[in-house]
Amino acid sequence: MKPVIALVGRPNVGKSTLFNRLTKTRDAIVADFAGLTRDRHYGNGKLGDHEYIVIDTGGFEPDALSGIYKEMAKQTRQAVAEADVVIFVVDARAGVSSQDHDIAKYLRKLGKPTLLTANKAEGMIEGGQFTDFYELGLGEVLPVSAAHGQGMRLLVDMSLELLKLEKPEEEPEPQDPLVIRLAVAGRPNVGKSTLINTWLGEERLVAFDLPGTTRDAISVPFERDGQKFELIDTAGLRRKGKVFEAIEKFSVVKTLQAIEDSNVVLLLLDATQGVTDQDAHIAGYILESGRAVVLAINKWDAVDAYQRETLARSVETRLGFLKFATIHYISAIKRQGLGPVWKSIAQAHASANRKMSTPVLTRLLLEAVQFQQPQRSGVFRPKLRYAHQGGMNPPIIIVHGNSLELVSESYKRYLEGRFRKEFDLVGTPMRIQMKTSH
Ligand code: GDP
Ligand code: GDP
Repeated sequence: MKPVIALVGRPNVGKSTLFNRLTKTRDAIVADFAGLTRDRHYGNGKLGDHEYIVIDTGGFEPDALSGIYKEMAKQTRQAVAEADVVIFVVDARAGVSSQDHDIAKYLRKLGKPTLLTANKAEGMIEGGQFTDFYELGLGEVLPVSAAHGQGMRLLVDMSLELLKLEKPEEEPEPQDPLVIRLAVAGRPNVGKSTLINTWLGEERLVAFDLPGTTRDAISVPFERDGQKFELIDTAGLRRKGKVFEAIEKFSVVKTLQAIEDSNVVLLLLDATQGVTDQDAHIAGYILESGRAVVLAINKWDAVDAYQRETLARSVETRLGFLKFATIHYISAIKRQGLGPVWKSIAQAHASANRKMSTPVLTRLLLEAVQFQQPQRSGVFRPKLRYAHQGGMNPPIIIVHGNSLELVSESYKRYLEGRFRKEFDLVGTPMRIQMKTSH
């Protein structure tokens, strides 16, 4: 499971700048999906071999008693509680402030692994100007410059080092590729626990033993129509006796981790609420994670014809970046429309794990190029030569050739469409990467 890093500090020390640095480094190709909201404060990052989740926490005044600062303090406390490591950001130029002292006191009491970081330290990195920060009682201070990208690698290495001291690395459980790991994700109250309990109560489901999951069963293995599934403990859901119920607090971090941990995500929406910002955020995250996805709009029984039409339109506009996903309109309570959802989950999983041979990919590539050439840029025209598969879940296709940096995003989408059609890829994102040979 990816470690979670929370960025904490008073306003204006550079947390958002740092957040952008730490998340921009990953190689997801998402920037040009229309409709994808970028303003969330949770992100995936990758630096060197390390992958992690970063949370940016806004300004923090631990003792704020009212108004927006109180709310921010609450949010920050939750983020910190869910984090594995805290990066406490101070301003190297401004020096130590009383707010820094308050935050330091809070973090010391909490006792989480904490790395003290002095940002805006460009041009100061050599000197011994940071001794003042020792009075915060959090040990060494690491100077960085988020704006200039200095010290980033060390920052991540040291944070994760701290984590290792705290939690020695666990052996990952081996995963059975024949089992579909399914996460049911969605905002609070969309009907996740109702749906899961309806499903698990069905006679068609057969429980089976999966090594490593029986002890404190937070994930449930079962078989349906000969296909094995493992339902992953999803944010906000807890097993209570035989049934699942939603615990009150919705945890974004747990949602993100469940998504990471799955092969297929069933994203549940509430027909009575329309598509909300939070739905779009979760959807955006699923896309970034590369997991296969099926959409189900629940509570279809509770909306009238007019609402249905409005909803269908807003799914199209707000979740347009998931147009490769199958949409189902269901009622968990009335048990309507549930059977076909299983079929789509299996289809999405099969698509995500499709094997594509180099000769077939290359033939398709060359046919696509013959049908429509990539645009030239000045005197150069990209030359696409061959393609091979670089990964599964999501499928990655690597195209080799010359001057491929000139290939436009829209041309990549054109290629994606051709590959999708030929390999019948439904319900999975896919990635096309260009590799220029020199
Ligand atoms: P936040 O409120 O903690 O999220 O801070 P922001 O990331 O919004 O940054 C506050 C201000 O500090 C902005 O004007 C940034 O451009 C600036 N800033 C951020 N990082 C650095 C840095 O490494 N060096 C300098 N000189 N300025 C920075
Ligand atoms: P969760 O927080 O996502 O697990 O949502 P719950 O399963 O607890 O459901 C939230 C509320 O929506 C409950 O009052 C359910 O009875 C109701 N609900 C769930 N599914 C449906 C449905 O298909 N139709 C209607 N009308 N209500 C539903």
